[in-house]
Amino acid sequence: MEPEPSGKGQAKLARAIYPGSFDPMTRGHLDIIQRASRLFDEVIMAVVGNPGKSPLLPIEVRTMLISKVVEDIPGVKVGHFQGLTVDFARQNNITIVIRGLRAISDYEAELGMAQTNKQLLPELETIFLMTKPEYSFISSSTVKEIARLGGDVSQFVPPAVHTYLREHFSRGAE
Ligand code: ADP
Repeated sequence: MEPEPSGKGQAKLARAIYPGSFDPMTRGHLDIIQRASRLFDEVIMAVVGNPGKSPLLPIEVRTMLISKVVEDIPGVKVGHFQGLTVDFARQNNITIVIRGLRAISDYEAELGMAQTNKQLLPELETIFLMTKPEYSFISSSTVKEIARLGGDVSQFVPPAVHTYLREHFSRGAE
């Protein structure tokens, strides 16, 4: 069978967004962005800063840490936005959203979000990547709790995040 012609002889650039709170970025997030980068020409890892949540780290710090961690991964860009993922996607001509799934407990919320986004922007597809088993129990909230209590989180987060958290909490921050 002949391959489908792609538009007017132009290859389509597959761009995706990986949105999240990333408060802070963990090794689970890193695994997802590494794998997504092999599937798409460009992936924007975007920190969502919504007023309803009270994060540990300001959006600028979360973005700066991600930039350090992903700087050598080809095709990955870092951004941040406030508001709806669908608006960010529309403004940036993105039609693919990447999300990670750890367990059944993630599924219900993720399904609802994917369906809502599709309703708001029909051309948007959400693609789920399953976590690697060794990262399935890692969450930003657990990392924050352990770091706050003085525990070692180096096996759960990339080195730049570990260093930042250690200094953050050694300054007596809450
Ligand atoms: P949000 O507040 O948008 O859920 P998170 O930073 O908690 O932001 O997570 C962003 C995305 O990464 C979500 O799709 C989440 O399911 C996924 N994720 C979080 N932790 C892991 C992990 N350990 N392995 C794989 N995916 C993960």
